Amino acid sequence: MRSTIISLLALLTVFSLPAMANEGSLAFVGARIIDGTAAEPIEDGVVVITDGRIRTVGPRSAVTIPEGARQINVSGKTIMPGLINSHGHVGDTLGLSGGEYNTDNLLRQLSLYARYGITTVNSLGGDEEEGFALRNSQYDQALDRARLLVSGSVVVGDSEEAIRAEVNRNADRGANFIKVRMDDNLGATEKMPKNLFDALVDQAHIRRLPVAVHLFYLDDAKYILNSGADLVAHSVRDLPVDSEFINLLKSKDVCYIPTLTREVSTFVYESEPGFFSDPYFLQEADPVVLQQLRSPERQSRMRNSSSAQQYKIALDVAMANINVLNASGVKIAMGTDSGPPARFQGYFVHMEMHMMVEAGLSPIDAIRASTGVAADCIGARDVGTLEPGKWGDLLVLGANPAENIENSKSIESVWIAGNRVAE
Ligand SMILES: [Zn+2]
Repeated sequence: MRSTIISLLALLTVFSLPAMANEGSLAFVGARIIDGTAAEPIEDGVVVITDGRIRTVGPRSAVTIPEGARQINVSGKTIMPGLINSHGHVGDTLGLSGGEYNTDNLLRQLSLYARYGITTVNSLGGDEEEGFALRNSQYDQALDRARLLVSGSVVVGDSEEAIRAEVNRNADRGANFIKVRMDDNLGATEKMPKNLFDALVDQAHIRRLPVAVHLFYLDDAKYILNSGADLVAHSVRDLPVDSEFINLLKSKDVCYIPTLTREVSTFVYESEPGFFSDPYFLQEADPVVLQQLRSPERQSRMRNSSSAQQYKIALDVAMANINVLNASGVKIAMGTDSGPPARFQGYFVHMEMHMMVEAGLSPIDAIRASTGVAADCIGARDVGTLEPGKWGDLLVLGANPAENIENSKSIESVWIAGNRVAE
């Protein structure tokens, strides 16, 4: 399934616009380089970007810097690939309200993501024409916003015919994924019947598109894998994962996206969250939104919401599960399900990585889950690692996140296709 996305990206690359910016070479000299693969970091390394793409990466002694290259001294810094959010939603929310989907809002959110060091966002549903258009125009060396992948609508329907027609509609628009929900929202809604789910997977695969599934329960997670789903878009949150599930994920080479901060957002505003005093959050936070979230009425509603309290327990299950899955060799891709109100785009990616480490992953595992592994999981062949031929999407950090994941917040500059993102 991933090969389809790969060929789509390759096609878009061929038709990318002529060079508008940053022609020539840019050399970052002297940093520690974490390249997003399983390789050891390079100390005192050099990254050369030519015409928006990575040309060379290696130790200073082994790299020839092209004549005329602009050199940037990054001694003592760490360079890593731009972060990838494997499960987001982009374009709909303004403040705490939805229904604001338009190009300006998409661009605003993709710029916000970029300033926080997220250079690719996989939007799993709710994508309209404006999002598809931005996706189509981003394989361009003048780009300086986060890249966007799109799914179109979250597929629903009350018959096989309706489901297949909706899959086709999204496929015709050029979706990267087909997104579906297999969940009853803690018993509040009906789950999609299994025969309809099977028809959806069948139709998506006929159209050579991978299927990403929203789920909650372990039983459903096993079902969707047996049915042929390609991406688990949330944590299993009802029960501890077992060897049957682990073996299914591994034998079918399916990635798992924990979205721990999605759970946090369901209950954390019952009182004032600790991150409301984090300067890294506050530098981009809208004071009006903070004031709304601090309202005593809203806080008490959340304290008294039974779903909020159930999701709080679900988070503990999710955190235990991600640790077991990671230790078992399952591919974990970082994702936040940010985008809906009070799931803060950008900042929640850093919180998610920190929670992954809190759950038991090493910082380097969390970094790989947010770069090279994430790119592989979402079929984004041209990003996610610092290797020749990939887009020059990278971060320069003041401190090493592999030593302490808190250092992911020490970003000093963000580069997309070799363009410095404005602060
Ligand atoms: Zn989602």
